[in-house]
Amino acid sequence: MPMQTTDDLRQALERLDGKGYKAYKAVKGSYRGPALRLTIDHVQGDPYAEPSRFTGEAAPDEAALPGWAYSTPARRVATADFINRALAAALRAHSSDLGSGKSGELRVLRPGQEVLRRSSVTIRPDGAVEARFRVGLPARGRRILGRGAARLVSAAEAALGEALFFAALDEAALRRHVETVEDARALRSQLPGRGLVAFVADGARLPRRSGIDDRPLEADAVPFESPESLRVTLETPNAGPLSGMGVPEGVTLVVGGGYHGKSTLLRAIERGVYDHVPGDGRERVVTVPGAVKVRAEDGRRIAGTDISPFIGRLPGGEDTRRFTTENASGSTSQAAAIVEALEVGATALLLDEDTSATNFMIRDARMQRLIHADDEPITPFIDRARQLHERHGVSTVLVVGGSGDYFDVADTVVAMREYRPKEVTDAARAVARDLPTQRREEGGAWPPPGARRVLPDSIDPSRGRRDVSVRVRALDRVEFGDHRVELAAVEQLVETAQTRAIAEALVTARSRAFPEAPSLPAAVSALMDILEGEGLDAFHPHRIGELAEFRRFELAAFLNRLRSLRTEPAAAPPAESAP
Ligand code: ADP
Ligand code: MG
Repeated sequence: MPMQTTDDLRQALERLDGKGYKAYKAVKGSYRGPALRLTIDHVQGDPYAEPSRFTGEAAPDEAALPGWAYSTPARRVATADFINRALAAALRAHSSDLGSGKSGELRVLRPGQEVLRRSSVTIRPDGAVEARFRVGLPARGRRILGRGAARLVSAAEAALGEALFFAALDEAALRRHVETVEDARALRSQLPGRGLVAFVADGARLPRRSGIDDRPLEADAVPFESPESLRVTLETPNAGPLSGMGVPEGVTLVVGGGYHGKSTLLRAIERGVYDHVPGDGRERVVTVPGAVKVRAEDGRRIAGTDISPFIGRLPGGEDTRRFTTENASGSTSQAAAIVEALEVGATALLLDEDTSATNFMIRDARMQRLIHADDEPITPFIDRARQLHERHGVSTVLVVGGSGDYFDVADTVVAMREYRPKEVTDAARAVARDLPTQRREEGGAWPPPGARRVLPDSIDPSRGRRDVSVRVRALDRVEFGDHRVELAAVEQLVETAQTRAIAEALVTARSRAFPEAPSLPAAVSALMDILEGEGLDAFHPHRIGELAEFRRFELAAFLNRLRSLRTEPAAAPPAESAP
């Protein structure tokens, strides 16, 4: 039997007019349209439920993308991201309010400022385009609105036509999108060879519109301008040589008065592990892929993490080599965040005084004299920063406006003044010589941290009678089985679709990673291998368009914040993990 056409689909929908909502199930299947193929993968149960899942597929000759738009994996990701944005706009424009609940809704995952691989739009190596989107099949009450549904299918076809076919796209904008992503990746790949952890291009615009709006601050943004002494020039395939500030490996301090742009610079560096859309202002700010923002997060749970490099004998007598708590303090949470990042291979740590625990960061000479080291369990970060770099190759970028004690351990000091950076390393050294702090180094050698293994049964997404109940409420909030996971302190998680993908990856991990993995990092690596080898769909039983790629660090951060997580000591630390 030849495949039915979208005209057949429209007729079938009109015939359903007035029937009960469940009758929609009959139209599941694939239909040939004039220029693409439309598939109804899943039909929602009622007009108030999550809208139905549709897929639009354009064959290579239908999409007619030029070779340059899909010739490399990076270009395919960029083109898919571009088409995703075009499709989001087109679907919204063709969306209508047709009846009850979500009737008439047309939508697709909406990307933020980052360019990510997502399950919503995929470009295949041969140039075919696949888009997964949602359609609110219309009803009045529970009665099918058949004619409305037929019109909605036409609207969806029109929207797909405006986004999946090259002829409908803004070619210059697509080219800029592809070239911007390719250049960012080229910049990032040059960092290790140049001994850098980050690069901030001259002219970059770092400030955001607001704390809840990640788009660039347009008016009054002072463009970034590198200090001469830190200026480097890196090559890009499309924009040619680009100059900017190179943040060297080692310990880098960002100092300066309050409100002079320190945190804004650090946040741009945090996000530099991802590629950005043209016009974001941070599209030429890049950071090594192993950079992890760590912060204090009191109240979080910790499951058997060895925080002994930072925290020794606690008053309650708990063992900090296997530290478990339902309610971490500022300092223990920050210690755990660092050890957990290192456990899965972080190569650079990013810290901001605004989100750090003071007693974790510093213990000055006067306090050392008043409170004997035996009565202070904390080895402050200042006594670990140099060891981390010299013995373990882990760099630190640290915002500190309030403590000059850090001058003793810094390789590079950058001062922000009215949003303009200046290198003040020599001046800081001179101050350190003139005004010795008299504080004693504490903590001794970095103890090799104890390795952990995840007890697979403790990753339990079941709830009541449901085997798997995962509800992603927001970017930073998930209900995983019976437990709520709070991720607000995982600051390099940037899209809800990443959060969803990580949650689904952990469900997958129960059967495919945790049982055999000898350690937590080995399990994380196994999941990342699945992501690389099989793609995002490996984590979900259905073809859903609401997943985005994630890093191993955010995956581990989610796992470490699961309230049910239990771990046991692993046989030996895995060879490739950091300290
Ligand atoms: P600090 O951490 O030094 O106290 P922030 O980075 O929080 O300062 O910045 C303070 C304010 O200045 C924020 O509202 C931020 O958006 C704004 N800002 C930061 N950098 C710039 C810039 N380059 N141009 C204009 N405004 C900026
Ligand atoms: Mg700040």
